[in-house]
Amino acid sequence: MFKAILIEKDEQGQRAALKDIDDAQLPEGNVTVKVACSTLNYKDGLAITGKSPVVRKFPMVPGIDLAGTVEASTHPDWRPGDAVVLNGWGVGETHWGGLAERARLNGDWLVPLPAAFTPAQAMAIGTAGYTAMLCVLALERHGVRPEHGEVVVTGAAGGVGSVAVALLAKLGYTVAAVTGRPAEAEYLKSLGAASVLARSDFNQPGKPLAKERWAGAVDTVGSHTLANVCAQAKYRGVVTACGLAGGMDLPASVAPFILRGVTLAGIDSVMCPRADRLLAWQRLATDLDLGKLDLITREISLAEAIPVAQQLLDGQVRGRVVVRVAA
Ligand code: NDP
Repeated sequence: MFKAILIEKDEQGQRAALKDIDDAQLPEGNVTVKVACSTLNYKDGLAITGKSPVVRKFPMVPGIDLAGTVEASTHPDWRPGDAVVLNGWGVGETHWGGLAERARLNGDWLVPLPAAFTPAQAMAIGTAGYTAMLCVLALERHGVRPEHGEVVVTGAAGGVGSVAVALLAKLGYTVAAVTGRPAEAEYLKSLGAASVLARSDFNQPGKPLAKERWAGAVDTVGSHTLANVCAQAKYRGVVTACGLAGGMDLPASVAPFILRGVTLAGIDSVMCPRADRLLAWQRLATDLDLGKLDLITREISLAEAIPVAQQLLDGQVRGRVVVRVAA
């Protein structure tokens, strides 16, 4: 038996609860992992609360991330005792996930736990931090360099935003952090933000083209915020779009793209190819200050994940939450 958060659905709707589950109920897979830590991402919040139809099969163990140790494997790459990390691949949506003491997975989905990190640190990073790194890698790939000007990060006090601010600042970029929580200004400055701007300056309808401000952007919010960031991008600026915390729509015009040569780079962590994942984790190991990671993170128990999921969606969680699964 093992403990897990289980989401069940019936005529009354869906509910999440901490349950004892028989090993025989574990899904198909060629690697069994003893989970040390998991985490709560925005998507886990949506899954646990049922606010969006993230979960595609019931009953479901949520948790799109996990870090732990291989217990059993018939996959050629993994042996018992190997330390591994998993991010995405539909885990926690269509395949039982990381908010459990045990997981059974496809070995192709796993990457080695980088030597630089403990399982808890890897989950402090989690999909949010790995996505922040994918955004930074996209900015670099499109040629954005610190001397080109400021990089703006929206939803900055959230998980993706906090890690993006810390990474960009360490890499020498001048970072403008956009937040709806003015009380987090000092926190964002301690992560390396040079300036802190109000969410309300970004989340209202704006002009198709505005004064050129940003050499690059990491947008976690979408909707008017993303449209305004594109409208404010400098000539040949690069905007990475990874999130929808403010909405799924994009009420924008083509003006920034056809008149200023702005690039809108989409970022997906879920199906991201293995080589890019390995690069992202390698770069996190060298480019993320572990002191800053501590500042970003707090730890909770498996049982606490259910109420904290709601707080996350209510925008009350700062930075990242690690869920300690094994004692
Ligand atoms: P968090 O909840 O930790 O952070 C989201 C932040 O967005 C909040 O902290 C808040 O920042 C801001 N925000 C929340 N609601 C609104 C709103 N209505 N309008 C404007 N800003 C708002 O989530 P994550 O950092 O884990 O994820 C951020 C986004 O990125 C989510 O939409 C998530 O689904 C997406 N994502 C996408 C991935 C991909 O593969 N493309 C992978 C990981 C995440 P503040 O308080 O500073 O304003």
